Amino acid sequence: SENYMNLEFPSRSANEAFARSAIACFAAQLDPTLDELGDIKTAVSEAVTNCIVHAYPETIGPVILRARLLPDNVLDIMVKDRGCGIADLEQACRPMFTTGGEERSGMGITIMESFMTEFRISSVPGKGTTVHMKR
Ligand code: ATP
Ligand code: MG
Repeated sequence: SENYMNLEFPSRSANEAFARSAIACFAAQLDPTLDELGDIKTAVSEAVTNCIVHAYPETIGPVILRARLLPDNVLDIMVKDRGCGIADLEQACRPMFTTGGEERSGMGITIMESFMTEFRISSVPGKGTTVHMKR
């Protein structure tokens, strides 16, 4: 039967590295190439960083990272927060759009889209944001 993992951790910046390592360990059972593993780690890192930086700007809140193995060696990943949400999703997905000022390049969502085979983002302002992706 299928394998899966469910993690929840606070939106502290140290947990970006934790999430990268956790998804790499889980993805190892797919026998990925180094390139594939790098892409998966980068995509998860971008999603988790968005929860840390944008979802809870003035506070710490929960980040949920789920992954499961689907038939044909497909890895299904979900990253979810219960933070501020995104008012205009179309705008948020545009390359180089950022509300993060000079420190951000506005490329995180574009990177997730291009590194993963499937990418979906949904958000409810005031409730939070969920990213689904497959590789
Ligand atoms: P970069 O990822 O290059 O450091 P960035 O985070 O601003 O910059 P994206 O990751 O593409 O760029 O996100 C674009 C914008 O979407 C963000 O600036 C932010 O306004 C919004 N956003 C993304 N993820 C979330 C989230 N989880 N919660 C709230 N807002 C988000
Ligand atoms: Mg980002």
